[in-house]
Amino acid sequence: MIAPRPDTPPRAPDAEAPKVSFVSLGCPKALVDSERIITRLRAEGYELARRHQGADLVIVNTCGFLDSAQQESLAAIGDALAENGRVIVTGCMGAEPEKITARFPQVLAITGPQQYESVLDAVHRALPPRHDPFLDLVPPQGIKLTPRHYAYLKISEGCNNRCTFCIIPSLRGRLVSRPVADVLREAEQLVAAGVRELLVISQDTSAYGVDIKHAASRYGDETVAARLTDLARELGKMGAWVRLHYVYPYPHVDDLIPLMAQGLVLPYLDVPFQHASPEVLRRMRRPAAQEKTLARIRRWREICPDITIRSTFIVGFPGETDAEFDFLLDWLDQAALDRVGCFTYEPVAGAAANALGAPVPDALKEERRRRFMQRQQAISTRLLKRKVGTRQKVIIDAVGRAARGRSQADAPEIDGTVHVASRRPLRIGEIATVKIERADAYDLHGTAVGF
Ligand code: SF4
Repeated sequence: MIAPRPDTPPRAPDAEAPKVSFVSLGCPKALVDSERIITRLRAEGYELARRHQGADLVIVNTCGFLDSAQQESLAAIGDALAENGRVIVTGCMGAEPEKITARFPQVLAITGPQQYESVLDAVHRALPPRHDPFLDLVPPQGIKLTPRHYAYLKISEGCNNRCTFCIIPSLRGRLVSRPVADVLREAEQLVAAGVRELLVISQDTSAYGVDIKHAASRYGDETVAARLTDLARELGKMGAWVRLHYVYPYPHVDDLIPLMAQGLVLPYLDVPFQHASPEVLRRMRRPAAQEKTLARIRRWREICPDITIRSTFIVGFPGETDAEFDFLLDWLDQAALDRVGCFTYEPVAGAAANALGAPVPDALKEERRRRFMQRQQAISTRLLKRKVGTRQKVIIDAVGRAARGRSQADAPEIDGTVHVASRRPLRIGEIATVKIERADAYDLHGTAVGF
């Protein structure tokens, strides 16, 4: 951490509540960090400002995963300085403070990812809190930045893998799992506060509990082990949708599929395969890459025919040959995944992969991405068309002239939308049964038939 400048006198006890403007960039994991920081600030009497102008201070929670994300973070810091002038920077880019100070020497303080105490320290020094013992208005579930009806639930931090294209372990450190009872209590409070969908996230969800040797903890009358299957089963009993993200295909992931078939957990698996060629996977040093994924996907579908499988891929990895790319396209046809994202390889500074093979020229990377997405679009369109005529449970995200929501196959932000006509007004967060009448490349259209 770069020490904050002690340039602000203490606030008078009767001063107005100090106002902080907050910018949250990056992935859902960073969003959870933002929620924790904001929750603490609100508990101490700080108010959140809607604009930088007029706030006493701006906090920018940065993302440093890709060079493009770093550029976005630097731009956000620049905007905050121009509009407000008093800026504290935290998050992944804080692990490399010199990149920030080189351009913005005037920032008040820089702290790294998950350094909640350091961010709060920096805020206290730059903008002391107004102490008010009667001001503890923070709801027990904390402050959520997501809409009230869904919430991200972070179960661990950091990662023990060393994927060669990724610098997250050096930014966020080794795996640290939360005790299972803590996670369950947070989930319980969220559900009690109206959350109807829990999105389980971490860097490596399948590895949950490995670092604490799956230590059991007391939750109510039960003893629950810190193991993904046990956690998922307990979450599934709370009555909310439970969606699992970033699940690497370790063998024990097979045990989750029956929970999906029983309806305890949503039949949705977000598995970032990243590639299919064994050679590329070896160079990527991906966890569980040796598992026979096609056979396992087939088996998952036998056990839970409704399962939606989402994944992400990287094309143009250093040294990727035409044959390796063609292997990936063939694999994609056979796997017939429901939802897929594809990125061209970006040589993040510090990633081991940059030295692993000849860089693929940008034009070729882009062409491979286009061919990949074309191939996948045909698959996704075919799979979505099969839903026409079915009835789907849809959680409503937005209302207006027409309501928009998501089926169990759609995670917020990354998947498709269901456009819902209804004879009675729908409410945000309500789960309606919708008869699907039409499908396009990504979205479904239908009419609410059950409430
Ligand atoms: S599993 Fe791999 S890609 Fe994911 S955070 Fe860990 S090292 Fe990075």
